[in-house]
Amino acid sequence: MDDTIAAISTALGVGAISIIRVSGKDAIATVNQLFSGKNLEKVPSHTIHYGYIKDQDEVIDEVLVTVMKSPKTFTTEDVVEINCHGGITTTNKILELLLSKNIRLAEPGEFTKRAFLNGRIDLMSAESIMDLIQVKTDKARKMAVQGIQGKQSKMIQNVRQKILELLANIEVNIDYPEYEDIEVMTNEKLLPELEEVQNELTEIISQSQNGQILKEGIKTIIIGKPNVGKSSILNRLLDEEKAIVTDIEGTTRDTVEGSIQLNGILLNMIDTAGIRKTDDVVEQLGVNKSLSLIDQADLIVVVLANNEPLSQEDLEILEKTKDKNTIVVINKNDLPSKLDKTILKDRVVIETNTVTLNGIDSLQKKILELFHLNQLEQQDYTYLSNARQIALAKEAKNSLNDARCGLLEQVPIDMVEIDIKKSWDKLGEIIGETYTEELIDQLFKQFCLGK
Ligand code: GDP
Repeated sequence: MDDTIAAISTALGVGAISIIRVSGKDAIATVNQLFSGKNLEKVPSHTIHYGYIKDQDEVIDEVLVTVMKSPKTFTTEDVVEINCHGGITTTNKILELLLSKNIRLAEPGEFTKRAFLNGRIDLMSAESIMDLIQVKTDKARKMAVQGIQGKQSKMIQNVRQKILELLANIEVNIDYPEYEDIEVMTNEKLLPELEEVQNELTEIISQSQNGQILKEGIKTIIIGKPNVGKSSILNRLLDEEKAIVTDIEGTTRDTVEGSIQLNGILLNMIDTAGIRKTDDVVEQLGVNKSLSLIDQADLIVVVLANNEPLSQEDLEILEKTKDKNTIVVINKNDLPSKLDKTILKDRVVIETNTVTLNGIDSLQKKILELFHLNQLEQQDYTYLSNARQIALAKEAKNSLNDARCGLLEQVPIDMVEIDIKKSWDKLGEIIGETYTEELIDQLFKQFCLGK
């Protein structure tokens, strides 16, 4: 981290302005060598200066240069930002000039990585920065902003603090058992306090499923035998002709995807190939994929045709989806019914047709209801926001549970303490208080260049 790094921080393309960011101990001196204007090494911090970037005597561009001195900068190092005219050639030329000096090209996410390693932000905030750049909906944006402000970290730190108090009390009792005035941390006393923290963690984990939905959307598959109207329903929901609709059985051979926003939540929809026993190899691949998608989906929409009796394939699909989050759609309700609905009495059923659009609204409403999407609005968007964080929170919760079982079984307190300490460590990993270099490298690689 001793070296000075540079990268283009704006999107590379034609635009009014591009920003090249430089960070590290040589940032100011090196840019100053290329800059004609004020002496940047003498200007106060957090000031902006007009001038030219020059390659020897040749003027490359007219620029504004922002000088920000350590430590009150994003990376905590000296940072210089060159605002040049937008356009690939000029921007690249300036970057090239910097790289010809004692500066190297930053890796993706390296500025944020430095901000983390220098203690300017914690790991959760860093992840929220990445989220904010990539969010697709307004709700996901709100969640990412909460993360950048440190609200998620604070939530974890609060739980950690409570665990620390438990540990401190146990320690005192182990070290000074003879002190009568120190609260005796008997199992009976420890147990309710530990359970309280465990419940808090359970609540955070369950709320975080909402966080995942806000961020990633709901993975939905539409499944059913050929010609029941799956593609038509997808199109009505998407409001565009994305899936090919035709009446030759088996046209939707592979899967067709699209996303819609329901109350600001992305619904990522996949129209699967018709489930049908087939000899056609291409179609067979699609059918296998459909069945495997059932397990990966958050929501399954099973489509049946109102004008046909239930077939063996329909029954198979219904059986395979019976323990999943499923809505059964009886489509073509404009046609006379030949479908026996008694088998569907315990299922969530919506009747639709894609000709007059009857029932399409009810289908959307049902999805909102199943995922409590209306209620998400009233909540404060403070959720764990990715699989890494949730997995660690679960491990922390499991360790607390081990400690709880230990207490119930009268295991010696110093053994119980090991589990509680483990839980504290896992929560520390969420905010990045402890980390491995591998994890950090992996994580920041996913950032874009210049961030
Ligand atoms: P998929 O194979 O399940 O994707 O079915 P498609 O969406 O391709 O539809 C098959 C045929 O059924 C097409 O000719 C559609 O126009 C027709 N169809 C779809 N929905 C309805 C509906 O609600 N009512 C009627 N009468 N026909 C429909």
